[in-house]
Amino acid sequence: MGVELLGLNIDNYTFEEALNVAKKLIDGQKVSQVVTINPEMFQTAEKDNNFANIIKEAEMVLPDGIGIKLGLKLTGVNVQRIPGIDFAKRLLQDTARSGVPVAIVGAKEEVITEAVKRLEREIGGLNIVYYHNGYFNDNQEIYNELKQKSPKLVLVALGSPKQEEFIYNAKKILNPALMIGIGGSLDVWSGSVKRAPKFFQKTGTEWLYRVVTQPSRFKRIFPTLPLFLIRVLTAKEKL
Ligand code: UDP
Repeated sequence: MGVELLGLNIDNYTFEEALNVAKKLIDGQKVSQVVTINPEMFQTAEKDNNFANIIKEAEMVLPDGIGIKLGLKLTGVNVQRIPGIDFAKRLLQDTARSGVPVAIVGAKEEVITEAVKRLEREIGGLNIVYYHNGYFNDNQEIYNELKQKSPKLVLVALGSPKQEEFIYNAKKILNPALMIGIGGSLDVWSGSVKRAPKFFQKTGTEWLYRVVTQPSRFKRIFPTLPLFLIRVLTAKEKL
């Protein structure tokens, strides 16, 4: 069940449907990749064929933010936004009940240590078998350690496109697992970065809150979203 946007396929699930599919993939026979896609990633995919290919081969591609929802709306398709941070949290909560082994890779050392501490305190039964900060030079070392621990759920927070590449390259190496890129989620879970208040989350305007509270983000977000929407409209006209 998917919709196409600028040459990439995006899954059109409700939050609960996506959770169920992800849980099945956790029990699957291979490494599966979940991408939570945003307009910046479309920009990267346009310039970088390898990255586009990673998204095309991903087992799940979820519409993370309001940008993708708006883009799809312009082509006449309605999808439910699935914020990666909420999706990953629910996966942790739901799989903790059956003791699924979890690994987390990414963020600064003090951030991941604090995030792990808080997650373990908050989620009963959570079985984190491995974690490592996101500042390493040799991917192979981390793959080796992951392979040894055989987690079934792996959260990777290296920012995009690093995390998608890290997961893609792990596909041929690791034992069956579900791997998901979670961007800045560890910064939020550790308490180092505040999540936008509920109002912004519900209205899909978290980006606005972030731009105002972290003005350095303005440069990153501002041209991307309008340019992305213009590209969607131009592509639509060509059809
Ligand atoms: N990060 C990392 N290693 C790197 C680069 C980034 O672990 O080499 C971490 C960074 O500390 C942050 C996360 O990746 O916790 C996401 O960064 P950012 O907010 O820039 O990514 P976004 O979610 O906006 O893609």
